[in-house]
Amino acid sequence: MNNKLYGNLIFELSHKGRRGYSLPDTGIATHHLPEALCRESEAELPECDELTVVRHYTNLSANNFGVNNGFYPLGSCTMKYNPAINEEMAALPGFANLHPLQPADTCQGALEVYYNLQRSLAALTGLSEFTLNPFAGAHGELTGLMIIRAYHQSRNDDKRVKVIVPDSAHGTNPASAAVCGLEVVEVKSRADGSVDVEDLRGLLDDGVAAMMMTNPNTLGMFERDIPEIARLVHECGGLMYYDGANLNPMLGVCRPGDMGFDVMHINLHKTFSTPHGGGGPGSGPVGVRAGLEAFLPAPRVVCEDGTYRIENDGEAIHIGAFLGNFAVIIRAYTYILSLGHENVRMVGPLATLNANYIKDSLKDLYKLPIEGRCKHEFVFDGLADKSTGVTTMDVAKRLLDYGYHAPTIYFPLLFHESLMIEPTESESIDTIDGFIEVMRRIAEEAATDPELVKSAPHSTPIGRVDDVLAAKRPTLTVKQIQS
Ligand SMILES: *Cc1c(COP(=O)(O)O)cnc(C)c1O
Repeated sequence: MNNKLYGNLIFELSHKGRRGYSLPDTGIATHHLPEALCRESEAELPECDELTVVRHYTNLSANNFGVNNGFYPLGSCTMKYNPAINEEMAALPGFANLHPLQPADTCQGALEVYYNLQRSLAALTGLSEFTLNPFAGAHGELTGLMIIRAYHQSRNDDKRVKVIVPDSAHGTNPASAAVCGLEVVEVKSRADGSVDVEDLRGLLDDGVAAMMMTNPNTLGMFERDIPEIARLVHECGGLMYYDGANLNPMLGVCRPGDMGFDVMHINLHKTFSTPHGGGGPGSGPVGVRAGLEAFLPAPRVVCEDGTYRIENDGEAIHIGAFLGNFAVIIRAYTYILSLGHENVRMVGPLATLNANYIKDSLKDLYKLPIEGRCKHEFVFDGLADKSTGVTTMDVAKRLLDYGYHAPTIYFPLLFHESLMIEPTESESIDTIDGFIEVMRRIAEEAATDPELVKSAPHSTPIGRVDDVLAAKRPTLTVKQIQS
């Protein structure tokens, strides 16, 4: 609903002197700020009654699209169902009202949850120990690389400054390596999107600290040469890092620890069901194989004779205050428990089945650059028929008219018209069939009435935005709108 009365900007609803609430004068002295810190003029804030504010923001929220509104096949982001029970558990007063400096003997239950998730992740990935401290996937990558650097330094192996990253990797991989003070070396992909082992051979020497890999890779394909790659990297003294942001397709099927990886991160907010998007909150736990536990950051939660303790080793690396995003940790643990031992094994196969079903149902109308069985996601290179001039952007916009969120578009950069689809394991066959039908209808519209698709969306509160203008001349304040 786009109700004019409640406008698009709270400033447009402002009336001078209107108040949302009033407090009685208590007679208590107010604290005066030093003159130098005070504003010279009044802050220009909207002045509204309470109900107007409530309606304004409620209506704004209804203009948004989320997993609870409809299908959200955003590749590389794993937008799966976030069950409400996760929220209920995270909101339990015993969890929500904890203080991070509370003595451990007053929060044994919370520490038990924390500890159990560390152990569950170790079991699911085949690694030895996990830290839940990092606040996001990228933060996990940085933590993992700091662990790797600390490991090399502990052996006085100071010349290892290079990190090998595939050219198809998520942008955070090279960024994390650079932030860690390491040098990024790019390894090429083969035509099928997998790491080019021959190219890799030429990059390996005693300056390599680590190789970062995403598996399934950014194109959703399983990297078949991992045993060979791990052998080569280990032979030259480097460690293997696994980007497990999207671990769905692996759950219950295979484990990074068994493939020869030494360090990895997982995005709890993707793989283990926590609402995300718009920047958070996230959690990027990092796991290490046996022998590297000593390099994990502090603080850690440990268990001795059934009692949980927060261990704070002053020598260890620290990557943030306290123990991480606890509410996300509870949600992930709830999700794992509510799936249960048997159903966790179904996550990978179902995520894979759903993606392949969509791919094979659409590949006659959309260009599939890489044939073969994908894992949880895959990439089309736009429509198969390029003569209509209808682009991936147009298809994405038209999907909104039909009530579907767009897939990831124009990423990865390996193709000009990338359309990256990830249905996740949570979706029913009816939802998936509905999406396939709409994607086929849009391809038909592109052929018969291309203007209809190029001018989409037609049914959303805001139509087609001028991307270039929005990027070059963004309107960021209400004053700009008013002038
Ligand atoms: C999302 C993602 C990341 C980064 O995770 P953030 O939590 O957004 O920092 C890293 N690698 C891959 C493959 C991802 O999909």
